[in-house]
Amino acid sequence: MPSKKSVKEADNVRVVVRCRPLNAKEVSNGNQMAVKVDEIRGTITARNPKASVGEPEKNYTFDTVFAPNCKQLDVYNEVARPIVECVLEGYNGTIFAYGQTGTGKTYTMEGVRTVPELRGIIPNSFAHIFGAIAKAEGDARFLVRVSYLEIYNEEVRDLLGKDQNVRLEVKERPDVGVYVKDLSAYVVNNADDMDRIMTLGNKNRVVGSTNMNAHSSRSHAIFTVTVECSEKGPDGQHHVRVGKLHLVDLAGSERQSKTGATGQRLKEATKINLSLSTLGNVISALVDGKSSHIPYRNSKLTRLLQDSLGGNSKTVMVANIGPADYNFDESISTLRYANRAK
Ligand code: ADP
Ligand code: MG
Repeated sequence: MPSKKSVKEADNVRVVVRCRPLNAKEVSNGNQMAVKVDEIRGTITARNPKASVGEPEKNYTFDTVFAPNCKQLDVYNEVARPIVECVLEGYNGTIFAYGQTGTGKTYTMEGVRTVPELRGIIPNSFAHIFGAIAKAEGDARFLVRVSYLEIYNEEVRDLLGKDQNVRLEVKERPDVGVYVKDLSAYVVNNADDMDRIMTLGNKNRVVGSTNMNAHSSRSHAIFTVTVECSEKGPDGQHHVRVGKLHLVDLAGSERQSKTGATGQRLKEATKINLSLSTLGNVISALVDGKSSHIPYRNSKLTRLLQDSLGGNSKTVMVANIGPADYNFDESISTLRYANRAK
């Protein structure tokens, strides 16, 4: 079906929606499902539990939606596999998990790393990348590096750095573009190496915070994998191509104003709202294709991902929602955000 976007742009930026199942507590509380997911039609239908009689349901259509019973590997194959393939070919790619705290962002990105069928996008991408390298033919030589950082309160912290008190600067140079000064990068030789590094970074996330739950819901975590491939071309010369994959577990999208925050908390909340709304503006400007100005510079997050959003880069946002009636307002707000960004 023809749409407002050109085929190329539609290929490069995608927004999908994933709805988690009701959890045990919600089931025992007797919470009702307020959303219906139709994977075949690609629709989400949301019913307001407080709706008056005759008030219509809200309908949203996306190119892909995932129902509560979907498998982690289905999400990987549909959402991440095509992006990782492009990264192996030397393009940049970014995968975001967006949504209210508790809707499955970390489950989608990381999942349960110790249980193979519950692994999320990040561990599956490790296996995919090293599987592809093992199968590569000819004289191709690969170098894989990883970095892991966190943006909290518009400040950048290196989760693999020796000193967790250091804040890093985002810089720009004409030859390399935007980069994080002094960010550590580790060379990894297999999926287990990568997994260990992720564990180390996750420990540092906890170290830097007094309350892990509050902290992770207020910070963006970006795990970056750089794949460099050197291969002899038909001219007999070695050519290097570099692809970068950013795997981003975003701060919770819940409206912070409702939490009655004041002082420092309110300042943080304002910064989270600004970075998530800037991300939405950047993505919708890219999809629209007509904007001459993309507001990358309005937040640290979009600024440091600038060379991996738009152009030849591939971007996917997985918008996560909870199915329960009491989540209705937040789910609608996520569906609206996702709908505008698609
Ligand atoms: P977030 O990172 O968005 O705050 P989490 O990923 O931590 O949310 O998910 C909240 C809880 O719900 C966790 O206990 C997680 O294991 C569970 N969960 C999330 N998504 C799913 C899913 N699709 N299937 C089963 N459990 C899920
Ligand atoms: Mg989380």
